[in-house]
Amino acid sequence: MIKFDIVTIFPEVVSTYTGSSILKRAQEKGLVEIEVHNLRDWALDKHRVVDDTPYGGGPGMIIKVEPVFNCLKDLKKDNSLVILTSPKGERLVQSKLKELSEKQNAHYIILCGHYEGFDQRIHDYLVDYEFSIGDYVLSGGELPALVLVDGVIRLIPGVLGNEDSLILETFTEGVVDYPQYTKPQQFNNWKVPDVLLSGDHQKIDKWREERLFKV
Ligand code: SAH
Repeated sequence: MIKFDIVTIFPEVVSTYTGSSILKRAQEKGLVEIEVHNLRDWALDKHRVVDDTPYGGGPGMIIKVEPVFNCLKDLKKDNSLVILTSPKGERLVQSKLKELSEKQNAHYIILCGHYEGFDQRIHDYLVDYEFSIGDYVLSGGELPALVLVDGVIRLIPGVLGNEDSLILETFTEGVVDYPQYTKPQQFNNWKVPDVLLSGDHQKIDKWREERLFKV
């Protein structure tokens, strides 16, 4: 079973999402374990401070190295992979999500930054992998962490109600989708393509194959 530990200073933001929908069901089915931790639990003082001003001056606050070090000391096991969210990281792509989802008994610890990011020593000495979800800067690593966790979990066999979508992905290597329609057949004169109503599955498969969006 894959286990995720997500470390953040906004645990309620993360657990609202991990406690809903497909991620919730995956945990209930025992296919994945997700724990959300407050980095402040590893703060050095009673005010639970985990950030400080940058050496050399400049705007904003930097996440300190000691709370992260102590947190990882408690959470890390032999097989853990420490993952950092960072706009400077490797761009996250579907093939990486697949690779992460296929590792047996994996343990992923994901660190969410905030403010101006992490003390560089965290990047240099404490993490195994850094990823970015795109070339833009967000205010925190919570959304990127959830993007990774969600994208990995839906690839674990048994998680999605309908396994057909995964089988399709296996055969076509990272297919995302073809256009889909549901009732009604016509709305505002906007029509469902005739081929999908034809009942001719060979034709339908061909039509869909031609319109697959792959990543
Ligand atoms: N000053 C930093 C930005 C920090 S943004 C810089 O310019 O690199 C604050 C935090 O949000 C980061 O530490 C990271 O955890 C998260 N974050 C912001 N944008 C992100 C992105 N595109 N991908 C992944 N994490 C991101």
